[in-house]
Amino acid sequence: MRFPLSMRWLLAAIVLIVAAAVIIVSRAHQPRRLAPLVAEFSGGGATLALRRALLPAQTDMLRISVAPLALPASASLDAITAELSTALAYVSARTATTLSEPITITINTEANCTLHGVAYTQNREVQVFTCAAIPSDRVVAILAHELVHQLAHDYYGDAHLNSDPIVLEGWATWGAGHYWLSRHATFRDFLGGEAPLPLAANHLGRPVAEMNTLYYQWASFVEYLLVTYGREAFDRLYRSGNSTPGSADYQGVYGVDLATLEAAWQEWLR
Ligand SMILES: [Zn+2]
Repeated sequence: MRFPLSMRWLLAAIVLIVAAAVIIVSRAHQPRRLAPLVAEFSGGGATLALRRALLPAQTDMLRISVAPLALPASASLDAITAELSTALAYVSARTATTLSEPITITINTEANCTLHGVAYTQNREVQVFTCAAIPSDRVVAILAHELVHQLAHDYYGDAHLNSDPIVLEGWATWGAGHYWLSRHATFRDFLGGEAPLPLAANHLGRPVAEMNTLYYQWASFVEYLLVTYGREAFDRLYRSGNSTPGSADYQGVYGVDLATLEAAWQEWLR
């Protein structure tokens, strides 16, 4: 699979396989679903695994279940539990948010070997779909992003379910920090001045590489807003959207519209 963008994007796609997140309008009886990336993976023949009983593990805040053949044989339950506990501590510290109650993490076997995740924050459950051919560190990277969605639910309350995807997904990606940054220190460094897509673009239905690009741009934009205007203003922005890209109250919170902020951010990137 070839990505038409720069090596940086290629690296990102290979190392992280990040999934773009989708907010699907919930049906009346279903919790809202916050889904990250759908990432293509072309590696070792996928095997359809029969779902047997999941292997469980538990910490104070995480209840972890791993389906048979979901992880490489070398990845023990103890090891993945420790990695996820570390990831939670990291994203919690980075975002200055904490879980209000324990959550469930379910690692499912994906027959097609496509790595993707989803957060059912009202149910306090995050899930990832993967297969034994995908290294466990990529699974943890996806889950780091999902954990930030749950932390956002606990911090912002139900308002986070209606957030502008730019800040909702930008925050989850920024919050995942080094799990998405590879060797780079910041998302600005990661972008290296490149921001080919408009911020208010819809992420749904895009090719994986473009979804990745958009998520990194959004994370960088969040980074810019935090550095420039601080956390308190960002928190007000986060609570102000209506689920469509660009819907947050940029004018009300920052005194300038999104187009002006976007131009300033692009200048900051260079
Ligand atoms: Zn997401």
